[in-house]
Amino acid sequence: MVGLDLEDNYEDIISKAMKGSNKKIKTEKIEDICKELNLNLTALKNIRDKKYYPREYNFFRKTNELRVERIQVPFYKGNVNSYLLVKGNKCAIIDTCGDADFVIEKIEELKLKAKFILLTHGHDDHTDGLGKIEDKLKIKVEKKNKINFLGYSIKRISTPGHTADSVTFLVEDFLFSGDLIFAGSLGGGNFSYKKLLESFKKILSLNKNLWIFPGHGPSTTIGQERENNAFSNF
Ligand SMILES: [Zn+2]
Repeated sequence: MVGLDLEDNYEDIISKAMKGSNKKIKTEKIEDICKELNLNLTALKNIRDKKYYPREYNFFRKTNELRVERIQVPFYKGNVNSYLLVKGNKCAIIDTCGDADFVIEKIEELKLKAKFILLTHGHDDHTDGLGKIEDKLKIKVEKKNKINFLGYSIKRISTPGHTADSVTFLVEDFLFSGDLIFAGSLGGGNFSYKKLLESFKKILSLNKNLWIFPGHGPSTTIGQERENNAFSNF
């Protein structure tokens, strides 16, 4: 296995689905669990047996056009991710990974000039350090729905569920999904599990070749998540 572990293991997925659908499952049999919780049996089996790991975006690819840098900070048993959307020597920051210093250091290391910040949702692990980044880099959070980044249009898509105002950003073939979608799983339906599933379905209906950059865990694609995400059972 390369890269990061999946954010959620078999038990995490079942516990999220039970909590979301407000059901307690007594059986240990995976077929019954999936039926009860409306989970994708093949996908969940593969995750349980460690047979699913997404083909990741190549972060080492450098071009002068748009590319993505990932900033990872250890968080509980996994990592929290924030990203830089980079064109030439300019960038936009997506989330703060809970620690301004990691973001500022990465931008200095790559000698980039940051234009603005985008936030997928308001949880601390994605927004802590925001004030420091704003002060130090003299930039602000961009709140418009249609955002212009050096001639590229970034679309803010409303994807509630994890929180009421969670959003996903779409630019060219990149999706920054915050805690909506993780490779193989979803973020918790803290606000509404029903809305979380609806938002997931909406994103999965987009082009299968889009790259997904989640708030935790490895990058993936829409196509891979249609097949391999345990919650993809429509
Ligand atoms: Zn969150």
